[in-house]
Amino acid sequence: MAETDCNETLRELEAFLDHELSEEVHVAIHAHLAGCHDCHETFDFHAELKTVVARKCQEQLPPGLLERIRRCLGDDEAGTASSDGPATG
Ligand SMILES: [Zn+2]
Repeated sequence: MAETDCNETLRELEAFLDHELSEEVHVAIHAHLAGCHDCHETFDFHAELKTVVARKCQEQLPPGLLERIRRCLGDDEAGTASSDGPATG
């Protein structure tokens, strides 16, 4: 039986919410959340945030806002995008 730590659980947060984990890991994390209030709250918050963001995506968002949210979520992907435009003066 493999037990999951809080740290390990939180590390898999994004993958968990995106359903990218194997069923085994998914179940293990689910079991952890059932008994860990702190992790449960964190996951709940992120899950709701993702839902809100997904819904807002259907509307027109001011450029930059989504990026700020993504950064807030710690979503830093390797790779270079086009440089930023002219900075605000
Ligand atoms: Zn925990």
